Amino acid sequence: MTMTEKSRAAVDERVEHVDVLIVGAGISGIGAAYHLREQFPGKSFVVFDALGGHGGTWWTHRYPGVRSDSDLFTFGYRFKPWRGDSIASSEEILRYLDEVVDENGLDAHIRHQHRVTAASWSTDDRRWTVDVTRGDTGEQLRFTTGFLWMCQGYYRHAEGYTPEWPGLDSFQGQVVHPQTWPADLDLTGKQVVVIGSGATAATLIPAIAADAAHVTMLQRSPTFFLARPRTHELATTLRALDIPAEWTHEILRRAHIAELDALTRMSFETPEELRALLIEGMRAELPEGFDVDRHFNPRYRPWQQRIAMLPDGDMFAAIREGKASVATDTIAEFTGTGIRLTSGEVMEADVVVTATGFDLSVFGDIAFTVDERPVDFADTVTYRGLMFTGLPNLAYVFGYFRYSWTLRADLISDFVCRLLRHMEEKEATMVVPTLRDSDAGMQLGPWVDPENFNPGYLTRSVHLMPKQGDREPWTHLHEYYEERDLLPAAGLDDGTLVYR
Ligand SMILES: Cc1cc2nc3c(=O)[nH]c(=O)nc-3n(C[C@H](O)[C@H](O)[C@H](O)COP(=O)(O)OP(=O)(O)OC[C@H]3O[C@@H](n4cnc5c(N)ncnc54)[C@H](O)[C@@H]3O)c2cc1C
Repeated sequence: MTMTEKSRAAVDERVEHVDVLIVGAGISGIGAAYHLREQFPGKSFVVFDALGGHGGTWWTHRYPGVRSDSDLFTFGYRFKPWRGDSIASSEEILRYLDEVVDENGLDAHIRHQHRVTAASWSTDDRRWTVDVTRGDTGEQLRFTTGFLWMCQGYYRHAEGYTPEWPGLDSFQGQVVHPQTWPADLDLTGKQVVVIGSGATAATLIPAIAADAAHVTMLQRSPTFFLARPRTHELATTLRALDIPAEWTHEILRRAHIAELDALTRMSFETPEELRALLIEGMRAELPEGFDVDRHFNPRYRPWQQRIAMLPDGDMFAAIREGKASVATDTIAEFTGTGIRLTSGEVMEADVVVTATGFDLSVFGDIAFTVDERPVDFADTVTYRGLMFTGLPNLAYVFGYFRYSWTLRADLISDFVCRLLRHMEEKEATMVVPTLRDSDAGMQLGPWVDPENFNPGYLTRSVHLMPKQGDREPWTHLHEYYEERDLLPAAGLDDGTLVYR
């Protein structure tokens, strides 16, 4: 026996089997574990996460002011009332997730520092074999499972995306990405340039503006912002009336969903009207004479990229107070002491924050094989944006862009549990989405149509993601108003899910 064979044999001796294996202990993975435990108390399951704790996005991101962008009545689960303001800090979200874990005994199932590196499906054995590396000890572990529930999010947690700029190496100040924010970074009295104008920049700028000498948001092109009250007035009213938290949660969910429905429909039906409304809203918050058209009138249609919410208009307040400003230009090069812009202007900076987004991770950077053939997700077609042709016994949670992610996570959990129940009833041990004869030659398009939604991290990497077709169930609908009735009613025996 070679050394490799010996170590593989040692791994095999300790193989543990679970009915369901969940990858990722962020808001999706914790939600999946909750629904599975509720609906199938008898099923064995584990949740693996590469990080040292649970919470995913809210564990990773530690820059000043980290908060939700959408309201917590819909970003929170439908089964656990949210009791705070609509917009919440990451500490509050982590506390909420901790409560879900504690109240439902999920801790015993979650294993931190467990990075899944490979997953191999065997049709003969009707199971996935999953390889795991422990982050703390380096140990290699092996598990088998009947169903793989992918809740690994969509971006690499270890580091964010930073473009290459000429001269960056010569810059003598500090360059920081929000995803890997140094805990001891002191910005007191510093000139700070934040590159980017997405939700991260908008969160960070008001949070650091008080300490820094000045913060400049440097953007290549503008973003739509919408100032919203941190606390919904309806929540204040209901709480004053001592209405039970469960009712308040449900009423506020409906109120927020109705507002998002209206905004989303308007973005498709009367986009220019919505643009005008958003711009007038921003103009009202900005100082007299501010060049709103140059800095806050995007080239794209509203909602073609995320509309960034500003709780109580906090970033506009920092601009009004002269603590923050906006520059719309491109970077020609970094100098020793700052950034030279294409217009010729030079911005001096002690610290540059690259709020330039994520690095898309396709299915957790896991090497997948099906019956020993490597899987390229770009060659697969999605079944309703949650399963994939040729991949048996696997579901993936990908949330909404325009609505809260968790609205879809809850819907997918219900779907997966319904599917598992259906398999039990049929005594099937395998389910695989399969194109019908009538789907041959179907027009295929990208995972997300760029006409619909096109932020940088998707545009850069969408070619690596599964495709969608031109008909149900091979489409990936991105709107809650389309899916909330469709997914619960979707037939499981229409011939597109093949059982064995
Ligand atoms: C700062 C910030 C604010 C946001 N605010 C909102 C908001 O207000 N509303 C909204 O809808 N969306 C928001 N988003 C988007 C947000 O990422 C999602 O809504 C949601 O948190 C995703 O949850 P998730 O559990 O699916 O994925 P994640 O939070 O990304 O968690 C995935 C987990 O899987 C683990 N994992 C990945 N690969 C592996 C592997 N191979 N092995 C083991 N573990 C693995 C990761 O370590 C991670 O813990 C925000 C994003 C950021 C960065």
